[in-house]
Amino acid sequence: MSHGLTLAFQARTDFVDNGSLAAVADGVEVSPKLPSWPTVEPLLAVKNVHLEYATDKSIVRATYDVSFNVYGADRFILLGPSGCGKSSLLKSVAGFLPPRAGSIELDGQVVRKAGPDRVVVFQEFDQLAPWKTVKQNVMFALQASRTLGKKEASERAEHYLHKVGLSRFFNAYPHTLSGGMKQRVAIARAMAMEPKILLMDEPFAALDALTRRKMQEELLALWEDTKFTLMFVTHSIEEALVLGNRILLLSPHPGRVKAEINSHQFSLDSAGSREFQATAQRIHHLLFNEQA
Ligand code: ADP
Ligand code: MG
Repeated sequence: MSHGLTLAFQARTDFVDNGSLAAVADGVEVSPKLPSWPTVEPLLAVKNVHLEYATDKSIVRATYDVSFNVYGADRFILLGPSGCGKSSLLKSVAGFLPPRAGSIELDGQVVRKAGPDRVVVFQEFDQLAPWKTVKQNVMFALQASRTLGKKEASERAEHYLHKVGLSRFFNAYPHTLSGGMKQRVAIARAMAMEPKILLMDEPFAALDALTRRKMQEELLALWEDTKFTLMFVTHSIEEALVLGNRILLLSPHPGRVKAEINSHQFSLDSAGSREFQATAQRIHHLLFNEQA
């Protein structure tokens, strides 16, 4: 498999006027702001988004002036350390957190509230209703928000559970499943909704390392099979590199765009390679403001 990302940052890195780090390198485009390459309309356009939380004592600014575009078959990664506003951005795209300023458009429509065209898979294993079987969990979501008939919901639930390798577990209850299997159900349920964009917030972060890797493989296989649009949040540089074709680097307090990387995924097998490690190191430097 090709290791498309030749992140040779040796060419030049410097700070531009707005304080973002810009880098020009062979084989990779890193831009401080909106990318210039695609001529097609983005599926998701996040423009100058400021996000805030009002607490008893103060206003917490979660992101400052964040802009990015997500296109059709992107596996778009939001990468940055804890507190850089990744989850807040995802919530905002999902429609749970209205921007204080700026705009979010999906397919040309301003996002104002949650909707079945944007489905989120979270990190937690308790996203499933414990009193429903695996299949009932998937069907319930479909019937509630897609208003599908029982037969159609049943067929679609089986189809997607099959895709995540859970054909033998339709009638199992969540408490009998491992963490990885629960996340597979959550992924099947989200995919069964056939959203315009699938949003994932550190879905594998609570899994053990081996299961996590397996889940990454499976997610890529699902993507190869279906080519859905994915927006994936992680604080792991390695995970970003194996899953993403485009990676937005964010810095914290408040979250700002540091750089955007147009990359091709490394294969999972290449994760230990020297090239992979060097790339991860470069990204670490970019994230933490050091000269690469
Ligand atoms: P990340 O997912 O990158 O770790 P978050 O989006 O969770 O970052 O948080 C971004 C900032 O917003 C942090 O400073 C965090 O403390 C703050 N924040 C997040 N959720 C809330 C909340 N419900 N109330 C107040 N502040 C919050
Ligand atoms: Mg988070």
